[in-house]
Amino acid sequence: MRSRVYLDWNATAPLRAEARAAMMAAMDVVGNPSSVHAEGRAARALVEKARAQVAAAVGCKPAEVVFTSGATEAAAVLGRLPVACVEVDPTAHDCLWSQRRDGEGSRAIGWGYANNETGLIAEPPAREAGVPLMLDIVQAVGKVPFSFAWSGAEMAVVSAHKFGGPKGVGALIVRDGVEIAPALVGGGQEMGRRAGTENVIGIAGMGAAAEAAQHDLEAGVWERVAELRNILEGALSSATNNTISVGKGALRLPNTLCLIAPGWKGETQVMAMDLAGFAVSAGSACSSGKVKASRVLKAMGFDEGQASQAIRVSLGPGVTEEAVLRFADAWCAQYRKALSRAA
Ligand code: PLP
Repeated sequence: MRSRVYLDWNATAPLRAEARAAMMAAMDVVGNPSSVHAEGRAARALVEKARAQVAAAVGCKPAEVVFTSGATEAAAVLGRLPVACVEVDPTAHDCLWSQRRDGEGSRAIGWGYANNETGLIAEPPAREAGVPLMLDIVQAVGKVPFSFAWSGAEMAVVSAHKFGGPKGVGALIVRDGVEIAPALVGGGQEMGRRAGTENVIGIAGMGAAAEAAQHDLEAGVWERVAELRNILEGALSSATNNTISVGKGALRLPNTLCLIAPGWKGETQVMAMDLAGFAVSAGSACSSGKVKASRVLKAMGFDEGQASQAIRVSLGPGVTEEAVLRFADAWCAQYRKALSRAA
């Protein structure tokens, strides 16, 4: 039996060996990072090493990194800003900005820098002075060069598992001097910005993954990923002449292909490909089992039908050309079948 092919890296990336090793080592460190004794200091050292690794990958100062349970928790701070209205990019990640508010007075902006469904990269809009900006850089980190220092944003959110770290750990990046009201209060950890004993094991894994991801990016491994994505795009687009490759030619992540296949539901595509041995997605994998027409595609102007016929294939550095071509063959064969059934 052929091994399965994982093509859903935007949902989550496989755990990196470096992250696994760092976590295994951290499991044997007994101390609480807030304790002053040697055991505590050893745990603190792991957290601070990871903070520096994440800062280097994101292009910010270590003191600007606040560890959280993931990007969703980090983004919750946006809802706690003393503003009346949080404006959200309509193509931003569905699950992230539930704290949207509407009202008069001062505003804040939540902006998805790289979209998880389409891979499209969009610079944030111009804004007036005093309007805080939070960037969702979850999909960008490790895949494309990004510098928080240069972005001009007040805040950014990051998630470890998208670049080969463990699930359930992430960070809020807060620009030096920007005051936030923490979502969690208690023991005053993370310089009072996120209370609760740090997830030392997860944080150590996140740091190691961030460093490895940065090395890979600098070594150019995503250029090959982009080549394979383009080969795949060509192969799938040639199956019929009416598929739409969303964002083709625009600035987008090197690994993401979002394809609308008229006459074939995204949900059915995912199931057919799963049976054929491939893991792909019909959009955002945000809540398990939920498959709806893509809100992102609708916000981009696609109709309900098109938005429900999209598939997202997202690659990563371990994916081979053989696997990509095998996927293309299987997908094209299944699409032809689906069209002939419908005819
Ligand atoms: N933002 C984007 C663009 C994502 O793709 C995801 C994960 O799917 C998140 C935020 C949420 O991250 P986390 O699961 O760490 O809360």
